[in-house]
Amino acid sequence: MATYEELMEKDEQYFAEAGRISYYSLLIDHADQATLVDIKGKEYIDLLSSASATNTGHSPKKVTDAIKNQADKMLHYTPAYMYHEPAIKLAEKLCEITPGDFEKKATFGLSGSDACDGVMKYARAYTGRSNIVTFQNAYHGSTYGALSMSALNNNMRAKMGPNVPNVEHIPFPDNYRGMYGKAQPNSIEEYLAPFKQMMETYLPSEEIACVVVETIQGDGGLLEPVPGYFKALYELCHEHGILFAVDDVQQGLGRTGTWCSTEHFNVEADLVVYGKSLASGMPLSAIVGRKEIMDSLEAPAHIFTTAANPVCCAASLATLDMIEEDNLLQESTRKGEIAQERMQKWENDYAFIGDVRGFGLSIGIDIVTDKKSKTKDSQTALKICNRLFEKGAVLIAIGESVLRFQPPLVITDQELKQALDLIEETMNEMAQ
Ligand code: PMP
Repeated sequence: MATYEELMEKDEQYFAEAGRISYYSLLIDHADQATLVDIKGKEYIDLLSSASATNTGHSPKKVTDAIKNQADKMLHYTPAYMYHEPAIKLAEKLCEITPGDFEKKATFGLSGSDACDGVMKYARAYTGRSNIVTFQNAYHGSTYGALSMSALNNNMRAKMGPNVPNVEHIPFPDNYRGMYGKAQPNSIEEYLAPFKQMMETYLPSEEIACVVVETIQGDGGLLEPVPGYFKALYELCHEHGILFAVDDVQQGLGRTGTWCSTEHFNVEADLVVYGKSLASGMPLSAIVGRKEIMDSLEAPAHIFTTAANPVCCAASLATLDMIEEDNLLQESTRKGEIAQERMQKWENDYAFIGDVRGFGLSIGIDIVTDKKSKTKDSQTALKICNRLFEKGAVLIAIGESVLRFQPPLVITDQELKQALDLIEETMNEMAQ
């Protein structure tokens, strides 16, 4: 077997850089539940869940058994031409678990990005309008549509030529720092002002197809919206015939303690996007939407030859079963509360913790230079991550300064305590 050094050298030679944000030189050999094991045999507690793509833990037996059974039966036939049971059953299941007392249909892709592109297509087709509104600081993915909807990092667009046109970005109603990272408005009305102003001054509502939201901005720093904002926005959208779509690729499927994150915000989206954990990390994404919207495009408008792969669909059905049978929605909430209780204490104890926020096991710890200015302290955040890595826990910082705490929902209480102890130990070191 190749050594660590040999493999890393080859990686540098052959693996293109744009495909990896390098945090740690962790070369994983295998993983189980919430544990990663590197090729030298060192164990790490995974507090990142492969970017929230392994909510059910690493290689859960129920899912790997389903994969093996389906792989032996049939590896693939394209949904573009034929039918197979796993895809049909999964479409039904996703329509059932997605909030909204109306008829729905689902379509499949291979990544969160392609599904976000699909939302643009369906919204434009159904409404006959061309503009899409998303948020500053959003991350929707890497394909041209998804990156055009994103507004997080210049590297996503640099050197790429024209993006998909008619995409507007409005400020996110950040419950911690307010709009534009400055003054904190006092009312929902003030938060809605940029959207309303846009419709009144340069983009009439009749030209807006859809608003696409991450209810909790994930990669942007686990930002929470001010309470009541999305409900108000949703009502405003519907007044104007604008669709309301939710990108739940990161926050969905138990991450926040519910199937769909909209359940925390009292809205029912017209279109919902799932990915990442949908098939426990196997390549699968889905758009679930109102039947009439999903009927607004005709083949071959949204076909991917290897989408709805039967092995991935079987993995997904087993994943969703596991979430139900092992009560992982409730477990996410319960464990999230245990974690937040400890973290709230840290927020009181440490001058460099500005905010602890989250739902379920999707928690952000915002590291600041001081609590009053709320200035992001990316250096300290990075130091904490690096120190934790040395101690055997994997956590990263996003949105410059926010520790992303998203362990697999199957993390045991003992592992959770161990992880929290390690973080606390590290915080103490930082406070010296
Ligand atoms: N939407 C959100 C909210 C995401 O967090 C991500 C991935 N970070 C994506 C879309 C893109 O998903 P993928 O990487 O599978 O294309």
